[in-house]
Amino acid sequence: MLSTPHNFVLIPATSAQWPSETGTLKLCFRGHELLVTETGVSPFDVVDVDTSVDAIVVGRWNGQLVVTQALALDAPAPSGARWTSVRSLFGVMADDLVAIAGRAGQLLEWNRSHKYCGACATPTERDASERVRRCPACKLASYPRISPAMMCLVTRGSQILLARNVNFPPGRFSALAGFLEAGESIEDAVHREVREEVGVEVEKPKYFASQSWPFPNSLMIAFTAEYVSGELKPDGHEIVEADWFDAGNLPQLPPRISIARALIDDALLRLRDTPT
Ligand SMILES: [Zn+2]
Repeated sequence: MLSTPHNFVLIPATSAQWPSETGTLKLCFRGHELLVTETGVSPFDVVDVDTSVDAIVVGRWNGQLVVTQALALDAPAPSGARWTSVRSLFGVMADDLVAIAGRAGQLLEWNRSHKYCGACATPTERDASERVRRCPACKLASYPRISPAMMCLVTRGSQILLARNVNFPPGRFSALAGFLEAGESIEDAVHREVREEVGVEVEKPKYFASQSWPFPNSLMIAFTAEYVSGELKPDGHEIVEADWFDAGNLPQLPPRISIARALIDDALLRLRDTPT
């Protein structure tokens, strides 16, 4: 699961004039693609990139300064390097580096998409002490956007409710999930999404864990909840199939790096001895 790397210190300032230090870890992006070594085990160390040009300081990791920068969309990969999505690096690059690269990509996306004020279209300016772009005309502040989403694993005795999203690979089932609507609490979203997607009512939503998912900017907040009533009725749009499963009868599950899998594994362990 993606989480804050060990020995990572956030540096909130966004000054583009940050001095380059010897040994700085430079993460170069081209759109959503990161420049990595051929094997993908580490970011490619670009020596001739000018990190004073609209670079973003991500933080300090094991004492090493981490900066990121967007290169031109048609920038070629130097010899010994290639461009790839950060998502494709799970299980290839060390988890801490993937997490840092995910943050870096999210910050670059924020910087790129808030160059102009969303209210009055004036070019915005980076704040020197806070991670925010401000409009000099109307003072609108644009922070990196984080979109909360909830995930819910519904339980019934020793069984869990798993569903097939229309976008899943064939055969894959997982917990239910959806983005929060304006004005909702996460608990409200749990009840609403479960009702909308499969037509059942739940109670006692219980927090499990959260995971940053910076592709591009969501925060997944995972819960379990207990079944109360209703017949399973997939909505047919987002959810094409849903059913009750137990530990001895499981479909194909999400990969182990996901919070969905951690949620499912934890619940199965807890429910193992629950009578149905
Ligand atoms: Zn403005």
